[in-house]
Amino acid sequence: MHAPSHRPLVLRHAEVLLTMDAGRREIADGAVVVEGPAIAWVGASAELPAAYAEALRDGRAEAVDLQGHVLMPGLVNTHHHMYQSLTRAVPEAQDAELFGWLTNLYQLWARLTPEMIRVSTQTAMAELMLSGCTTTSDHLYLFPNGARLDDSIEAAEAMGMRFHAARGSMSVGRSQGGLPPDELVEREPAILADSERLVDRWHDASRHSMRRIVLAPCSPFSVSRELMRDSAVLARERGVSLHTHLAENDNDVAYSREKFGMTPAEYAQDLGWVGRDVWHAHCVKLDEAGIALFGRTGTGVAHCPCSNMRLASGIAPVGAMRRAGVPVGLGVDGSASNDGAHLLGEARQALLLQRVGYGPAAMTAREVLEMATLGGARVLGRDDIGALAPGMSADLVAFDLRGVAHAGAWHDLVAALVFCQPGNVALSVINGRVAIRDGVFQDVELPPLLARHRALASSLYEGARHPHLRAG
Ligand SMILES: [Zn+2]
Repeated sequence: MHAPSHRPLVLRHAEVLLTMDAGRREIADGAVVVEGPAIAWVGASAELPAAYAEALRDGRAEAVDLQGHVLMPGLVNTHHHMYQSLTRAVPEAQDAELFGWLTNLYQLWARLTPEMIRVSTQTAMAELMLSGCTTTSDHLYLFPNGARLDDSIEAAEAMGMRFHAARGSMSVGRSQGGLPPDELVEREPAILADSERLVDRWHDASRHSMRRIVLAPCSPFSVSRELMRDSAVLARERGVSLHTHLAENDNDVAYSREKFGMTPAEYAQDLGWVGRDVWHAHCVKLDEAGIALFGRTGTGVAHCPCSNMRLASGIAPVGAMRRAGVPVGLGVDGSASNDGAHLLGEARQALLLQRVGYGPAAMTAREVLEMATLGGARVLGRDDIGALAPGMSADLVAFDLRGVAHAGAWHDLVAALVFCQPGNVALSVINGRVAIRDGVFQDVELPPLLARHRALASSLYEGARHPHLRAG
């Protein structure tokens, strides 16, 4: 299923080809040739090598014409909780900050089932793919009622999306001074054993890999110091990445100071949670010393501007991070704290929010597009995605800019991608396979998926509000 096309794919006549290659080339009337899972050639359409032109004439290659489109590397999403697509805009959690918001939602999430994980993951991936995303991470940290990370991995395979599945966990319940209710936490030996099982079963470290496992205790306020440290040891033994939430808001920092006597960055360092194989979500309140530490060690950050605004967490100092050499990617974050998951839209919000905090020159369109592609790739520890060049994975998207949203912006179509209101992709190619053509999924039926998602979301919400109505 979802094998790359057996014929070379020639994407040509793109109005602008944004390569994100070493020279950051932007090629007018650009073309890309895809062979198998990788990119074979990149250049101007007029310079297409004769062998490919001949293959097109003989029908041994397939052409896709992209006049009026910007063609670019697929976007990389570095932070999400896809199960939350079932609990968007929940009235009880609309107007709270992080800790109050979580407390209101935990009781809903305690009723998640394996089917809910599968359907919500596929729905969240459909939304991301339409918005230009081709690689995503997902941080799943609660496993009630028999749910497993395998449920979301199988969902990703059905969608054909490049996936870094983060095995989240919570082990410190309310009775131990943590935030989550006791019924949602797991025993730490079971978490570590399941992490090992998942790496054995699913992790693929190879180039062009479609599936990697990440170890991801949920946050300092829901797991113990020991689990953080043991997870880091295990991740390094097995060569997988580490991910968690860090320094999300002032309360988060206060918790760290009170409970551990350290800033979040000091806590991370103390537990071995810095390095090129680690990335932290948010870091809105990462202090100067923390930024320097992350820069020195290559520790990555997933910047989630909409979620930070939604929960009034603050403005992450992304410019200072980038200047210090911190790898920064974008994340839409879970659908319950960012009820929209449009990754190109998230890039637009990142640009706008930096300007609110730090002035009109704080971030350019090209910088934020770099964060959304190469930045995300670096955060996930990959050098085979995020740019279009021979030998890179064939993950490409094209946006048709001939509509009303981009009228008047044709003097700089690359900047228009984020200055104007972002739309959905016309074309998405992932691992050499056309997933979306003319804005339509090629082998996913969206209406039945959404109908099932709607039914599950309403049973989850109504069931939690009226527990006496719970059917068997
Ligand atoms: Zn999150």
